[in-house]
Amino acid sequence: MSHGDGDHERFAHYVQKDKIMASALDGTPVVALCGKVWVPGRDPKKYPVCPMCKEIYESMGSGGDDKGKGGDKGKGK
Ligand SMILES: [Zn+2]
Repeated sequence: MSHGDGDHERFAHYVQKDKIMASALDGTPVVALCGKVWVPGRDPKKYPVCPMCKEIYESMGSGGDDKGKGGDKGKGK
């Protein structure tokens, strides 16, 4: 449990949803908001959100993305 290279896998990073879906299909890594190259897990809800991704995500706010309405943005409970 302590191989020293898996700490980043303990977080769920924010990644554009389209890229997550593409990654789920072919297993390619994606680039998270924090800059981490990461392969999303099947069950991100069991990991805490990456603090850096969260900060960046929140700093982006809801503006600047005028076609994101109505989708699942991971908000709420
Ligand atoms: Zn992150």
